[in-house]
Amino acid sequence: MGIKPARKPGLPAARAPRPVRKSDYSDPAALPEDLQEESRLRPIALDEFVGQAAVKEQLGISLEAARRRGEAMDHILFHGPPGLGKTTLASIVANELGVEISRSSGPVIEKPYDLAGLLTNLQPRGVLFLDEIHRLSPVIEEYLYPALEDFQVDILIDRGPGARSVKLNLEPFTLVGATTRSGLLSAPLRSRFGVTLRLDYYGADDLAKIVRRSAGILAVEVEENAAIEMARRARGTPRIANRLLRRVRDFALIKSDGRITLDVTREALRLLAVDERGLDDMDRRLLEALITKYGGGPVGLGTLAVVVGEEAGTLEDVYEPFLVQEGFIKRTPRGREATALAYTHLGLEPPAGAAPGGAGTVAERRAPEQPELPLS
Ligand code: ADP
Repeated sequence: MGIKPARKPGLPAARAPRPVRKSDYSDPAALPEDLQEESRLRPIALDEFVGQAAVKEQLGISLEAARRRGEAMDHILFHGPPGLGKTTLASIVANELGVEISRSSGPVIEKPYDLAGLLTNLQPRGVLFLDEIHRLSPVIEEYLYPALEDFQVDILIDRGPGARSVKLNLEPFTLVGATTRSGLLSAPLRSRFGVTLRLDYYGADDLAKIVRRSAGILAVEVEENAAIEMARRARGTPRIANRLLRRVRDFALIKSDGRITLDVTREALRLLAVDERGLDDMDRRLLEALITKYGGGPVGLGTLAVVVGEEAGTLEDVYEPFLVQEGFIKRTPRGREATALAYTHLGLEPPAGAAPGGAGTVAERRAPEQPELPLS
């Protein structure tokens, strides 16, 4: 395929901005309000990255090997739900290797020359970070393969009858891909990654560490039990833990003396309508609809989406993974089912046949990465 790197591709388009709702605190995707402070809170060295011990160990070994060999590191794929640190780890990889990082994302790269521009501008052993890599078009994917394998791209020289395609050698580089839906990645693309690492939801201990670390950077005093409270209600997600911290910090400043105590935290979270288990309005409406309108299921996600007035994709990416992880919902081949825990959480009597629920098995907790179930 002949292409011409006519223009430099743009930076990844952020998600379309949308109004911040009360329950947006629980959206693990970055909101406009996050962007400014997230860069301050992002760990820059592997040692600073909290939790995910297995991922850190594997990454540490690969980084060290690449450094000793003086070669570009293998291409790496990070997958897992949003807000768990994939972008952060991509920057850490570049930092640890002492190279520059260029960023773009799957849906932004429309034409092969967009990608050629990115690739030809990389410095030797540089890192190219592609977010939402499952959304690359098939044409771009094809174009990427020789770049990944042989560090070569086809470039179109001239136009019209004299046009010809030449192979251009690239500097060796490392592609770092990130995806929330590894199940949607094509097999050929997946096989090009030498290192594939899955990020899982964080435990409360690790999230409390993240809250304390961020509080230090933001120069705000947080009591230990307040940090634990925020961690418990952060949906296993560092981005949400940081967001809660910022909201509680503002509340503490306006309503109290600026110190984050347990009482201040509980009051702020009550205002945000975050309950004891970290569930918000939309989570509760979803469970209520499942139980009261559909007798606890099974029911398709598309149907639930219509009932609660939210897009099916948002329910699947944002709300459902957490509800499955915490054992409020079960994904079955016939649809979603409410567990006994969902009933009791809403103060209802569970029917005799309801699955018990509670923290699921590892396999159940990995639901968002499993082969996609039909939405309806
Ligand atoms: P993703 O790319 O998976 O959506 P990000 O890497 O953008 O997530 O992480 C979101 C925010 O959460 C970052 O700004 C960072 O401050 C914080 N964060 C994520 N993982 C960690 C971690 N393990 N330790 C400390 N902070 C983290």
